[in-house]
Amino acid sequence: MTDNTRRSKTLVLDFDNVIHSYTSGWQGVDVIPDPPHKGAFAFIERAMANYDVAILSSRSGVEAGRFAMAKWFVKHGFRADAINWRECQDAAPDPASTIDPNSAEGLARRFNDLPEDMRPARLLSFPWTKPPAWLSLDDRAMQFNGKWPSMEVIDNFKPWNVRERKPRKAQEPAQEPAQE
Ligand SMILES: [Mg+2]
Repeated sequence: MTDNTRRSKTLVLDFDNVIHSYTSGWQGVDVIPDPPHKGAFAFIERAMANYDVAILSSRSGVEAGRFAMAKWFVKHGFRADAINWRECQDAAPDPASTIDPNSAEGLARRFNDLPEDMRPARLLSFPWTKPPAWLSLDDRAMQFNGKWPSMEVIDNFKPWNVRERKPRKAQEPAQEPAQE
């Protein structure tokens, strides 16, 4: 496999409880109150060296959700010029309309329309449907292995952060002081 074929593969990342720590739970499609999970951005930076990385969420179906995720990345320190702002838009605005510099179009003009030699090698993308993917990383998914899971397995599924942790190895009981 050449480096070129590897570079065309897409890694799809779920957002809530994978990238976004999601400790406040669902607050709305464009409301993203919590910080990233530890290591999330470092992982994305590493992945983007070899893959097209796409963020796909139940937020992705509406422009406000995609745009809110993209802005959340920047708020938490992700490079604004490494984000595909145009993809956050449903459609390019009427050319005659005044462009809000903080809208997806305004940000796209600022960061996605840079001269070619100033553009990052690839952009973090925010598609609204699932792209052909090499792999998806999601907190609420199972790998299909050719056998259908039972309804019981599905009913009892728990994401990683609510699974019961393995009890710690019981500590040796403290030695009672020797009785006189
Ligand atoms: Mg999730």
